[in-house]
Amino acid sequence: MSHKAQAIVLSCIDFRFRNAVNQFVEQLGISDFDLKSDAGGVKQIVEKTSAGDWILKNFEIAFDLHDVERVILINHEDCGAYGGSKKFANSKEEINFQNQQLKLAVDILKQKYPDKQIEAYLARLTDPISFYGAS
Ligand SMILES: [Zn+2]
Repeated sequence: MSHKAQAIVLSCIDFRFRNAVNQFVEQLGISDFDLKSDAGGVKQIVEKTSAGDWILKNFEIAFDLHDVERVILINHEDCGAYGGSKKFANSKEEINFQNQQLKLAVDILKQKYPDKQIEAYLARLTDPISFYGAS
C-alpha cells in the first residue's frame, strides 16, 4: 500500500523554530509532510558537501517512497551554523545573505529536480516568528 506526503520540508535543527515551522507549513495547506532537519538548513546543499549530498538523498527517498512533489526550504535568522546574527553588520545584511543562500539552494534543486516544486522561506526571530518567501 502506498502512502503519499504533500511535501518534504528542510529546516534547521534549532528548537526555537520547530513549532513555528510546523504551523507555517500547515498554513501552506500541507498537513502530511516529511521532515529533514540539519544545522544551517540549506547550508550544506549550497556548499555542496557530502552532508549536502545526504540531504538530497533524503529528498530522493521522499520523492520515491512518498510520491512527494513539493520541497519547502526554510532557513532562519540568528542561525548558529552561520555564526548567528552577530556575524553580520546588521539585520538587513543578514536577511540579504540568507535570501541569497536560499536562492542558491533553489537553483541547485530546480536544476537537479526540474519536475518538483521548490519553495524557500526565511524565518525571522520576531514574536511570533514570521516567514518570508525567498524563492
Ligand atoms: Zn539554525
